[in-house]
Amino acid sequence: MSDPIEALPPLREVIARHDLAARKALGQNFLLDLNLTRKIARAAMPWAAGAVIEIGPGPGGLTRALLLEGAPRVFAVERDERCLAALQDLAAAADGRLQLHSGDALETDFATLAPPPWQVVANLPYNIATPLILSWVAQADHFARITVLVQKEVAERLAAKPGGKTYGRLAVAAQWRCEVRMLFDIGPKAFVPPPKVTSTLVELQPRAKPLAEAEPAKLERVTAAAFNQRRKMLRAALKPLWPDADAKLHMAGIDPTRRAETLSIEEFCALARLL
Ligand code: SAM
Repeated sequence: MSDPIEALPPLREVIARHDLAARKALGQNFLLDLNLTRKIARAAMPWAAGAVIEIGPGPGGLTRALLLEGAPRVFAVERDERCLAALQDLAAAADGRLQLHSGDALETDFATLAPPPWQVVANLPYNIATPLILSWVAQADHFARITVLVQKEVAERLAAKPGGKTYGRLAVAAQWRCEVRMLFDIGPKAFVPPPKVTSTLVELQPRAKPLAEAEPAKLERVTAAAFNQRRKMLRAALKPLWPDADAKLHMAGIDPTRRAETLSIEEFCALARLL
């Protein structure tokens, strides 16, 4: 074994030594199979010029994989101090390529870690996956790529196309700024402890520019109003925004009897421009 990372003790031993009993409140479902974490790391490649940021390294299974697959610099943000202690040996073996950051990912300004562009690769804590992804896509031009493991249901909502039940605010917010692809599923048995649901690795590749012109806050107001009453016709659902919603819909070239889930992102943007 030439790489000191490969000479580290197995993850099960690290977990036992540091008493890393999984905490549900922290969304801790660990991946211990290095073949699988290396597959995730490879799916995130090529490595971007800037920093790779991992949220929630836990005992370090994916972190090891990122380093073994050649990520030039990894910044790992973890809020569980037990995990940070367990990661010290990996940091030592990584020869300066791994920096550990203690903190809450929801409150961490990545600019304090490294200058953009940032490439995120993570097995996200499921309870905060959606707010994290929404905050990242809102500043998509700072990101090289985002490759994250989330609940399959969240991946489906991110990647949803118009016409289905899963298409909603999350799909519009994500796809307005990024191309979204579901890469592959991982079943519950791969995790310790196993979660109740299947997970999906999803890729968000920021677009060079948003899909259509709109102010983010206005687009958010339009999609919120439209999807809050998704079973209603748009002329009724959009009344809270415009008493004359019918006229506005006509101005945007949209039949007022349509429902939110049939609108393309470009059509939502056209409505946002009328606000
Ligand atoms: N990356 C590891 C793996 O794949 O085995 C662990 C993934 S586990 C699903 C999620 C990790 O995120 C846990 O290590 C947990 O402690 C950490 N975490 C939870 N909430 C966090 C937060 N707000 N900020 C940073 N890390 C958090």
